[in-house]
Amino acid sequence: MLKKNPIPLVMKDAPMIRHFTDKGRIGISDKLFPTTVVGSYPVTKSVGLRSFLDPLHSAVERAVTDQITAGIDIISDGQVRGDMITVFISQLPGIRGQVVGGKVLPADQPVTLADTRYALTRHPEVKGILTGPSTLAHGLRIGTPLYRNREELVLDLAQALASEARALDKVGVTVLQIDEPIFSTGAADLDVGKKAIEIVTADLKAPISLHVCGELIDVIDGILAIPVSMYDFEFSGSQENLEVVSAKDLKGRLLGYGCVDTADPAVEHAATIEKRIEKGVQVFDPDQMVIDPDCGMRMLSRNSAFCKLKNMVEASRAMRIAYANSSDDSAGSGEFEAFLGD
Ligand SMILES: [Zn+2]
Repeated sequence: MLKKNPIPLVMKDAPMIRHFTDKGRIGISDKLFPTTVVGSYPVTKSVGLRSFLDPLHSAVERAVTDQITAGIDIISDGQVRGDMITVFISQLPGIRGQVVGGKVLPADQPVTLADTRYALTRHPEVKGILTGPSTLAHGLRIGTPLYRNREELVLDLAQALASEARALDKVGVTVLQIDEPIFSTGAADLDVGKKAIEIVTADLKAPISLHVCGELIDVIDGILAIPVSMYDFEFSGSQENLEVVSAKDLKGRLLGYGCVDTADPAVEHAATIEKRIEKGVQVFDPDQMVIDPDCGMRMLSRNSAFCKLKNMVEASRAMRIAYANSSDDSAGSGEFEAFLGD
């Protein structure tokens, strides 16, 4: 099952899936079962002088530190500056509060760049994260005749987010994730959502990941029609998703395999998470799996979030060792060491 020569690493300059190589793979890590987060982390109160200048900077610092200490391979900036909708719409010209009153334009300054840059000073592998245009549009009320319907608004939001995406791409994020939880509710037009994501991600070097939490049974085909390098779904909160997604051809794309329950503050043991990963391995190609929690961790306590991530890393390491040992017997141990690369 495990290849002796694993897929070569991080192809930061790799083309996106629409320019797939004939091997049909795009890697974001040299490890088997690499770990990441969906994005958000509990917001902690700031202390000290610096908090006068930037009250949330210490929350970013703690989120980054905790992820690194837990052993996460691809970290985030913690998304501590507000909820996933407000943090973007509050910065976009044309929007006031939750009402669209004029033409939506790009933010004057990239919204997430400074925190992403900070995370990159602490760790080499960082994901950039955007809330997708369809999800943002559904959090807004149209109060201008400029937009005849929500779909027109979605496409303008996509144009506005494209400059944010380019800024994140330029600083060298390992992967750019677009969050579209609205897709699983059935409320969004997935054809428009697809077009919007293509606008946001046009001409980027970073592989694109699409995060959709929730039940996928009614929307999976529409989601898999969206040309990204990686899909990120929840499999711990929704057992049914395993059946739904494994019945589909992922065409070699990576799969963010949500295996930590972010809706429940109780910390699951590493062994429990390991069992969930094993379930995934029975139906997906391990080379395609990226290990992460079901969703963001903003609503958890810091201790619960940290312990969940730590146990997830432990589970992933255990799986990596188990799979290396159960692979081709003729492979030398040196190769395994290189591959384990922890
Ligand atoms: Zn989510």
